[in-house]
Amino acid sequence: MQLFEKLIDHREAGRLVSENIKLLPVENVPLEAAQGLALAQDLKARFDSPPFDNSAVDGYAVRSVDAIEGRTFEVVDEAPAGRPAQKSVGEGEAIKIFTGGVIPKGSDAVVMVENTSGWGEEFGLKKAAEAGQNVRRSGEDVREGDVILSAGTEIGAPEIALAATQGYGEIPVYRRPKVVALSTGTELVPPGERDLSPGEIYDSNSFAIVAQARDAGAEARRISAASDESEALRDAIQEALEDADIVVTSGGVSVGEKDLVKGTMTDLGVEQVFWGVKFKPGKPLYFGVRDDAAVFGLPGNPVSAMVCFDLFVRPALMRMMGREDRKRPRIQVYFDQDTQNRFGRLNAMRVSLKKTEKGWRAESVGAQGSGLVSSLTKADALALIGPESEVKAGDTVEAIVLREEIILGERTPESERQMVESGD
Ligand code: AMP
Ligand code: MG
Repeated sequence: MQLFEKLIDHREAGRLVSENIKLLPVENVPLEAAQGLALAQDLKARFDSPPFDNSAVDGYAVRSVDAIEGRTFEVVDEAPAGRPAQKSVGEGEAIKIFTGGVIPKGSDAVVMVENTSGWGEEFGLKKAAEAGQNVRRSGEDVREGDVILSAGTEIGAPEIALAATQGYGEIPVYRRPKVVALSTGTELVPPGERDLSPGEIYDSNSFAIVAQARDAGAEARRISAASDESEALRDAIQEALEDADIVVTSGGVSVGEKDLVKGTMTDLGVEQVFWGVKFKPGKPLYFGVRDDAAVFGLPGNPVSAMVCFDLFVRPALMRMMGREDRKRPRIQVYFDQDTQNRFGRLNAMRVSLKKTEKGWRAESVGAQGSGLVSSLTKADALALIGPESEVKAGDTVEAIVLREEIILGERTPESERQMVESGD
């Protein structure tokens, strides 16, 4: 057992984490597996897209010079999507065409079937058409050689769609980080396994950590909770270190006699970067590295574990993936009452948010105990209150938004009206 040598500032801790975390190697991954990852190189268009002129509607391809109201056309062929017509369009002729069908030779416009007397061997035109009408031009979406997605772009559904239109089955990205979550504590029982005996509780941290890691875009799994016996702990951490980029333990990292995580890390060759941060909740946070893997020892109290994950592990994952975190915006908030932090550590206070004329009003979600798991379900943000400080009513402090939909959902009546009126 060892007491904290020295607690470091939370900014210093953040800096040490980012200094010790490297970008993961670049890998070509199948499109379906690229979601949430960052593109490692610019992606260029291999050809004009769409690759050929095609019809935007179902109807008939005609010569625009013939497309006079009342005229009758003879249908000579058809051009469904994927099967270009054999014939070309001559004077007074038409080729039946469907959306995506190749515009046949000789024609320069498509008339919608709705503007004709209908499908048949011949038809009458009810409405004149101009050259280019209902024709989607080759290259109107992207041009060969264009950078369609630039390096660093986070891959989402639209980026996947665009890469697919250019025939990319795989794209180069920084590979997905692997996280292993491991809870420690003899008192822990996996939920769903059995009823609790006296003194036991259900393990919630490893489940929370896996969910948080996945939410950040990582691949994550948990390994069964380890007891506070040193041998079991060592085996579990050793197993976790074998294939993880980041091992996240919870519990057993403070100054109690049963807090063996730190010593076990050292035995396993993990080099300590820091232990102990001037931060609440989460003073005993441990961070170390071994080869290319990083290890976070989060405190056992569930709120501390989750808040430390958000503030320290999540940024590490983003850095590994070469991504920016757009889901944790920082905003200024104010309180209605004077709010003190009597601790010598930064306090990340769980608050709910409400938009007022004065800006974002923060309100504590209630008791701030670090074992109160229910409090996190009510928190919209973490308000950062400096050590030994007194924030006066109306003064602003920085807050990290945990539910970005809260601020995205904040619309003025004007913008809501525009959204309704601008339907496609
Ligand atoms: P520790 O950091 O191991 O001293 O644990 C601090 C508190 O967090 C104790 O009340 C533990 O029982 C609790 N705790 C530790 N690990 C977990 C876990 N995985 N799930 C829920 N509570 C935990
Ligand atoms: Mg414990």
